[in-house]
Amino acid sequence: MRIAVLALQGDFAEHEAVFRRLNIPTCQLRQKSDLDLDFDALVLPGGESTVQGKLLRELDMFDNIRSRILNGLPVMATCAGTILLAQQILDDPTVHLGTMGISVRRNAYGRQLSSFYTSGTFGELNDVPMSFIRAPQIEFCVPGVEVLAEHDGRITAVRQGSQLAMTFHPELGSDNRVAEYFLSMI
Ligand code: GLN
Repeated sequence: MRIAVLALQGDFAEHEAVFRRLNIPTCQLRQKSDLDLDFDALVLPGGESTVQGKLLRELDMFDNIRSRILNGLPVMATCAGTILLAQQILDDPTVHLGTMGISVRRNAYGRQLSSFYTSGTFGELNDVPMSFIRAPQIEFCVPGVEVLAEHDGRITAVRQGSQLAMTFHPELGSDNRVAEYFLSMI
């Protein structure tokens, strides 16, 4: 098994470090030719969704990645990655990959609370560390999207078939359980 990590911008190295701890090989997707590599699942890291969306298009990687996700490639998205997957970005007419039936609002926690750390329940896991960094909020989900985590009444993690998305960063820290959950989906 090998996990591809989109490595155009953002915290892809932290995701790779988690899989290294789990002895799972990774490869970086930096340019179109990297899409010919052999991989079984994809990670979309946090960072800046506008930059990542622009680079995906400019590097001509967008359609290939989108159709693979629609065809069932397992994907785990964190923060900006979740914005890339969303079918709707509230307050912004842009849609990036748009493969997941969620509506998100960018930078939804305001200035005071823009970055914070907490821990909480994720599916059947307890006390999962969750770092929020200028996080979006998932405001609506279509039927069939399973809510896996919430914080203060806000949805923070969802799954729709082979797509897993969260608004926090599970990869910052030493707890591997969210990555292990993703591996169980592959
Ligand atoms: N605020 C960023 C965006 O809108 C996401 C932040 C993150 O990925 N930590 O893309």
